[in-house]
Amino acid sequence: MELVGLTVDKFHSALKSGETTVEAVCKATFDRIEKLNPDLNVYLTVTKDSALERARQLDQQLAAGAELSPLFGVPTAIKDNICTKDVRTTCASKILDTFKPPYSATVVERLEAAGAVVVGKANCDEFAMGSSNENSAYGSVRNPWNLEHVPGGSSGGSAAAVAADLCIVALGSDTGGSVREPASFCGVTGLKPTYGRVSRYGLVAFGSSLDQVGPISKNAADSARVLGVIAGRDWHDSTSSEISVPDYLAALTGDIKGLKLGVPKEAFVEGLHPEVKARIQESIKNFESLGAEIVEVSLPHSEYAIADYYIIATAEASSNLARYDGVKYGFRDADAKTLQEMYKKTRDHGFGSEVKRRIMLGTYVLSSGYYDAYYLKAQKIRTILEQDFRKAFEACDLIVMPTAPVPPFKLGEKTDDPLAMYLADIYTVTINLVGVPGISIPSGFTSDGLPIGCQLIAPHFEEARLLQAADAYERSYPSNRYPNI
Ligand code: GLN
Repeated sequence: MELVGLTVDKFHSALKSGETTVEAVCKATFDRIEKLNPDLNVYLTVTKDSALERARQLDQQLAAGAELSPLFGVPTAIKDNICTKDVRTTCASKILDTFKPPYSATVVERLEAAGAVVVGKANCDEFAMGSSNENSAYGSVRNPWNLEHVPGGSSGGSAAAVAADLCIVALGSDTGGSVREPASFCGVTGLKPTYGRVSRYGLVAFGSSLDQVGPISKNAADSARVLGVIAGRDWHDSTSSEISVPDYLAALTGDIKGLKLGVPKEAFVEGLHPEVKARIQESIKNFESLGAEIVEVSLPHSEYAIADYYIIATAEASSNLARYDGVKYGFRDADAKTLQEMYKKTRDHGFGSEVKRRIMLGTYVLSSGYYDAYYLKAQKIRTILEQDFRKAFEACDLIVMPTAPVPPFKLGEKTDDPLAMYLADIYTVTINLVGVPGISIPSGFTSDGLPIGCQLIAPHFEEARLLQAADAYERSYPSNRYPNI
């Protein structure tokens, strides 16, 4: 069976007609991984034996007349900061090089209960800190559209795996854009759900008030499927919401007539790459041609978002990462004589430079004398940003803007300039600070053939509306282009 462009729907039709089996598709996926992973560096761990065994079991169930569950037999990649029982989970960090979690994240359990076959653990930026996947302790992922370019981050492995057909769907995590930005850079669909929509139990914590797990897929329908499976209350995560989970697939009617699409006037300013600007403007016109009404809205405090995010996210990271001290998890530096020295050496040798930078920044903004000036002020700005969005949503149903201000950049281009790297997150971080859902959908290519993503944002818990618009768009403006690898 042809893996290129294979979606869950197509796969399930082929299973039903007897044209293929779960085992055949999984085997073909592993063959493709063996061929392409040396170049792409997408997978840190491949779970071939367990996946093929599970595939055979599923085929037997199908032969015995089993119904197709939503993700029956679907080869799935899991970002390596999401715990998988007894399967190495490194967070792309040396400090967790040998860590095998004793339990699986709720999202993984739910995927597997819905029939998914986990094929491997996807590379990412260390502890999900980054926008290019260059902060992995195991080397950068490469963009399947052009190997000289970054795939985006931090869920670069998940997005590149989907784009290169090394799985059908993947899970990423998004603290400030890490599902949406790599989806944009790799020409696939990536959804960051409302904070609280999806359980964080078993997702290794980075910024606990911002983190969400989200699907990356080849179309909106597959994201709808995955979200329907992973969303919902989990008693292991007290921040998971009790709001019932709608039928996301049923929302994909193809009709968005009368939908009010808000275009923030602050989004098309200086610093936005001209080709990105042109593509997003074109996408807005396309939405209009589908019957959407375009209205101008304002998000007047957007300019504070990057500073706000990099105070709050680092503060939370400095606290969350305190647990990696060589005592309980993974790596311990053997070369220490005292307990203090063991902590110091373990952290010094275990963490990469970006993680250390964040821990230092976060510790600084929380320290006595600076707490009020930075952390407390940042929390106040966060409330103001929320108010901006609440007001904007009084005038529209969805907001549209770029996912990233630039197309996929070259490997190494921004690694010496952390601030330039942080600016790549200018359109995504606010969404996490405010807690609303956002999706990145493919919106064409640069003249060099690199993908560009368009971001849609909805009010809290309105993922169905996001998916409905994304699906309507892609039905009328399908991309039909695949990486040439
Ligand atoms: N690029 C952002 C950062 O470096 C977002 C990361 C994420 O969403 N995990 O923090």
